[in-house]
Amino acid sequence: MTQLPLRAQLASALGRTAATLSRVTGRGDGSVIGGRVGLILEPDLLRKLAADRKLVLVSATNGKTTTTRLITSELQELGEVATNAFGANMPAGHVSALASNKQAPFGVLEVDEKYLPEVLETTQAGVVCLMNLSRDQMDRAGEIWLLAQKWRRALAGKDIHVVANCDDPLVTWGAMTASTVTWVSCGQPWKEDSWCCPECGGPLDRKGDDWACRECHFRRPEPTWFLDDDAVIDPRRQRWVLDLRLPGRANRANAAIALAVAEVFGLPVERALPRLREVTSVAGRYTMVERDGRSLRLLLAKNPAGWLEAFEVSDPSLPIVLSVNAQGPDGRDTSWLWDVDFRILSGRPVYVTGERRLDLALRLDVAGVPFQLCETFDAAVAQQRPGRVDVIANYTAFQQIRAEFGRAV
Ligand SMILES: [Zn+2]
Repeated sequence: MTQLPLRAQLASALGRTAATLSRVTGRGDGSVIGGRVGLILEPDLLRKLAADRKLVLVSATNGKTTTTRLITSELQELGEVATNAFGANMPAGHVSALASNKQAPFGVLEVDEKYLPEVLETTQAGVVCLMNLSRDQMDRAGEIWLLAQKWRRALAGKDIHVVANCDDPLVTWGAMTASTVTWVSCGQPWKEDSWCCPECGGPLDRKGDDWACRECHFRRPEPTWFLDDDAVIDPRRQRWVLDLRLPGRANRANAAIALAVAEVFGLPVERALPRLREVTSVAGRYTMVERDGRSLRLLLAKNPAGWLEAFEVSDPSLPIVLSVNAQGPDGRDTSWLWDVDFRILSGRPVYVTGERRLDLALRLDVAGVPFQLCETFDAAVAQQRPGRVDVIANYTAFQQIRAEFGRAV
């Protein structure tokens, strides 16, 4: 990377100082505050830090933190990689990520879906990875079509290589204006937000992962990469068994798209795949923690599509603790609970906690799923016999549980 101008150097150095202060005073991991300070001192800092690097931006409703981590692991095969490993996915987090590794020739940045056009414009990233779009919470419903439209505008007319999941109609619509697209078929278990054609509003006909509009020309593009159960099929029709350490179908989908991204960087599957297998947990997700002889596996679910993924990963033979909050990042409205089919938990011992445990309790009651209400997470854990337990929590509930274990996970 070329030398930054003096003002940008100063801004980036002061940003790092602020980040250190934030960390040592216990106010967080510092990745956002440092970037904010830097951006105030030099609004053009992100553009300058991004210059002369090979960047990939990763965006989706679900799985972007994990996929960012997987792509980072792959590209480390080629050289140093700057990345926002803590999931700080807005411009201040990107500044912090790139400033903390100025020499790295590669950058992998997780980007909040709403910020993608702005970050793309500023960083001039050459590769964009798009996976899925669904509503995050009920109070944000209806926004995702507008979001996809903004992606279309941001990608049009630029020299960008997009790698996108063509099984998601809205992602396809959002990605298809890019000059080059690699289509990956990695599934769409959550279909509730895409029964209508984004192009004309007509009904979408579906057959397996394939889909087409009944009323206009819009249909699924032909994929060149496929997720096929526990394996990925590459463009040469070679089948690669994934054998990941991360559990579940959603992570196999993330890995499939990460392998397609690696190839854009000239990294073949045989070199990228071993790197994917090295990733064992991502920001505490999928981690096993121990407490008084119980092994708790922590699963994060931020929205209805995420709950579906977490249920798929969880082990039906184990008791399960569910924790739901409704603070700002979770969405204040818990009506999304009614979009999740909890009947899959029938027959398992279910323990309900979190600040909005009563909302969840009502939902389970209506679904006919027996459960036990617990005042606190500790109380829920105390109810467990020694052995393995699954825990699913939404965003702030998950962070509270992580904090209880000292964020060591
Ligand atoms: Zn249509």
